[in-house]
Amino acid sequence: MSPIPIKQKIVREDGSKMKIIVVGAGLGGLGAAIALLLAGHDVEVFEAASEIGEVGAGIQILPNSSRVLQSWGMHDMLDKHATKPKQVNFLGWKGNHISHMNFHESASKYPGTFYWDFHRANLHNCLLERAVELGAKLKVNARVQDVICDANGEKATVVLHNGERHTGDLVVGADGINSRLREIMLGREDPPTLTGDLAYRLLLSTKDMLKDPELADLVTNPQVNYWLGPDAHAVNYVLRGGELFNMVLLVPDDMPAGANTLEGNVEEMRALYKDWDPRIPKLLSLCESVYKWRLCIRTGMESWSHPSGTLTMLGDAVHATLPYLASGAGMSLEDGAVLGELFSRRTTQSKSQLLELYQKIRAARTEMVVERGNRQQYLYHLHDGPEQEERDRVMRAGEEGDAL
Ligand code: FAD
Repeated sequence: MSPIPIKQKIVREDGSKMKIIVVGAGLGGLGAAIALLLAGHDVEVFEAASEIGEVGAGIQILPNSSRVLQSWGMHDMLDKHATKPKQVNFLGWKGNHISHMNFHESASKYPGTFYWDFHRANLHNCLLERAVELGAKLKVNARVQDVICDANGEKATVVLHNGERHTGDLVVGADGINSRLREIMLGREDPPTLTGDLAYRLLLSTKDMLKDPELADLVTNPQVNYWLGPDAHAVNYVLRGGELFNMVLLVPDDMPAGANTLEGNVEEMRALYKDWDPRIPKLLSLCESVYKWRLCIRTGMESWSHPSGTLTMLGDAVHATLPYLASGAGMSLEDGAVLGELFSRRTTQSKSQLLELYQKIRAARTEMVVERGNRQQYLYHLHDGPEQEERDRVMRAGEEGDAL
């Protein structure tokens, strides 16, 4: 049972119901679909891929976004897939303890503020199930190529790759970091900004780990661990109650220009961590193949919405961040929640006024998260020395507070 009040679907029989088109069925797009359906509108989701799904990796859902998910009536369906780590540990690259935050203590102090770890497929499937339950219509193989906004602010039409056209009262662009809709809004090409880092993503079966006493504890006592080292860091957490071990390695970007995701070389990856906490080389010896993702960010979108009030944007398309605060998806879920809240009101304000308010509410917070992600990149990757010692001292001092 969730202690967070659940939103009930608004019934609109007064002609105020809108038809809303969401572009992209990622975590952000599905979240927005749920929030706007609960606000009493009709929602159609257009997804470019042939299947609606997520990459095979883990995701951390922090208390701010677990509250949003619960308010959408998703506690019970999600709780059975969630692992709830007791705490997060920050370690030096040799395995020395720097600091920790206890999630269970803060969750008991502030009811409903769960810290949940998921396999992405589980979280994504639950969002999809809830969106469909509330009446979402979904179309796959539907790559949106253009959006035409009426100058009078009435309607917008999406044009698909096959020429099909669909018209709605509002289009919400949730098409991710390589967003086409962002380019349409800006009227020019606008590639994401490189960060100089890439991520190796690993999912290990815990069966072999359980045979090694040094690794078994990482499974049987599920906690989130961050190892911070020169030019790189590593993160791990357990999924599906101990069935899978999720690990992300964050290292300097060595990918060729133009690539986003490539198969990685396991030997090269192992070499980068050979002198770290001996548990890391052991873990990497269990990995047979790996992919690497170039890490980019998105900032600087002056206006998130078209002046007509018929097109707006959310999630990575607007404010993709380095994943160093585990908050990108959380920000996209919050975006959807705010849109839902604003469009749940029967108000005299026009769509463009509501969208202006949406950006006012969201921009400063999401910009702060992107900036903090960049700052964490610097702090997490310090070489041993006085600055690293000062960082560790400050982190230890912060331990006095709680995880919120
Ligand atoms: P996406 O998930 O990219 O979804 C976009 C969707 O739009 C896709 O389905 C795509 O196929 C579709 N699409 C694209 N173009 C079109 C088009 N023209 N027409 C129709 N459909 C289209 N966040 C967290 O909160 N916690 C974490 O622990 C965390 N860990 C991370 C670890 C790594 C290594 C990385 C890289 C990111 C991490 N994130 C994390 C960030 C998080 O994954 C993203 O912020 C989030 O998935 C963004 O969701 P989105 O819906 O905006 O975009």
